[in-house]
Amino acid sequence: MGRAVEIVEPGGRRWRGTLVPSHEMSGARIVQLKLESGYNVGLAISPDFRVELLLPGPDPEEPRTREPAPGASATPVGPPKDSVDLLTTGGTIASRVDYRTGGVRPVRDEREILAFYPDLAKGGKVRIVPVLDRLSEEIVPADWELLAHRVAESFADGARGVVIAHGTDTLGYTAAALSFLLADLPGPVVLVGAQRSPDRPSSDGVSNLSAAVRIARETDLGEVVVVMHAGTSDGRFAIHRGTKVRKMHSSRRDAFRSRNTAPIGHLDAGEVRLEEPYRPSSKGPTHVEGRLDPRGALVWFYPGLDPDRVADLVRDLRGVVLAGTGLGHVSSAHLGWIRQAVARGVVVAMTTQCLEGEADPYVYSTGRELLRSGVVYLGDMLPEVAYVKLLWALGASEEPSEVARRLREDRAGEVSARHLVREP
Ligand code: GLU
Repeated sequence: MGRAVEIVEPGGRRWRGTLVPSHEMSGARIVQLKLESGYNVGLAISPDFRVELLLPGPDPEEPRTREPAPGASATPVGPPKDSVDLLTTGGTIASRVDYRTGGVRPVRDEREILAFYPDLAKGGKVRIVPVLDRLSEEIVPADWELLAHRVAESFADGARGVVIAHGTDTLGYTAAALSFLLADLPGPVVLVGAQRSPDRPSSDGVSNLSAAVRIARETDLGEVVVVMHAGTSDGRFAIHRGTKVRKMHSSRRDAFRSRNTAPIGHLDAGEVRLEEPYRPSSKGPTHVEGRLDPRGALVWFYPGLDPDRVADLVRDLRGVVLAGTGLGHVSSAHLGWIRQAVARGVVVAMTTQCLEGEADPYVYSTGRELLRSGVVYLGDMLPEVAYVKLLWALGASEEPSEVARRLREDRAGEVSARHLVREP
C-alpha cells in the first residue's frame, strides 16, 4: 500500500485515499486509489489534476506513476487471463426461436450455447455451467439462493470471475439478491442479458456476452455488476452496480440504466474504464451470508388502493416494502393497517416510485405521520432492491428492530449515504 493523497480534478471533484500499486496492464496515466470507504477508484489523470500528499514518508510499495499526459485512458485491470465460469439460467441470451410455436425458448445445454457463441473462449478458458433454463419471470427467491451457492462454488473451484446469463426482465432483482447474499467476493460477478435471441441477426447477445466475459476476466471488481449495451454505439457497454440498476425500456438494447448514480465504468472501443468508486476483490473465500425469508412483499401505492386489501395481504407477512408517491407517501387511509401491522411486528418500509431522488419523510406532514407510525424510510433505494433486501433482512433475524436496522444499513451500495434517513 502506498501514500495517502488527495486528488483534485479540474472540475473540483476531490478524491481522498491511499495509492494502490498499478497493475502492469494499467494505462500509463491511471492512478488507483483505495478510498476511505474501502472502495477503489481508477482515475485517468492529466496535468491539470492536483495531487496532494496527506501523510509524509516514502513507501517502498508505492506505485510509480508515469508521466501524466492529457487525455483519458483505460483504468487498471486485474490479473491477466484466467478461467471464467458462465452460469446459464435461460432468458433471451440463452434462448432460440422455437419454430414450432414461433416463440423463443431457453436453450438446454452447453452445445446449444456454443453453437451461438463460438468465439466465447477466444480470450481464455470459459466453463459453461447450466443452472436453470427459465425465462426470468419464472425465477423465484429460492433460485437466487441456488445461484448464490453456485457462484460461491465457482470461485471455490478457482474461477477468476463469474458471468451469469439471465433474462433481462428480472435481471435487476437477481443482481440485487446476489449482492446481498454473497460476501468477500474474490472476483467480479457479472450478470448479462440480451434483448434479442442469439439466432437472430440483430442479436445483442454475442457482444453483450463477450463484454461480460472480458469484465469478469480482467477487472478487479469484488462486487456484483450488470453489463449491457450503453447508448446506440455498437462498441460501448456500461458496468452497472447490481443494486442500482433498472430495466428502463422493454426492447431497446441499451435498456439498462443506473439510477441515482453513474455506472461504475464502461467498456468502450475495446478498453475497460472503471470510473467510479467500486469494491475491489477480496482475498475470499467467498461465502453465502444468510438466507431469504419469502414472507415479504412489495406494494405499489396508487390513488384508490383499498387499505383493506393491503391489510389482508400483510396478514401473513413479516414485512412489506411500499413504493410510495413522490417523497414516499401513501394516503392517510392506510395509516390504520400500517399501525396495526407495526404493532404486530411487521416491518413496513418506504421507497419512492420516482426513478430519481429519494424517499424523505421530513418535508410533508404525511411523511412525518408515516414515520411516527413506524414506517422505515429507505432513502434512494429502488423499490425492487428494497424488496429483495427485505427478504434477506428477514432471513437474518426474527427481531423487527434488527430487520429494520439491516434494511437501513448500506450493504452493497444500494443506498447512498447522503440519502439515509435518520431514525425518528
Ligand atoms: N421475458 C424473458 C426473460 O426475462 C425474455 C426477455 C429477456 O431475456 O430479455 O427471461
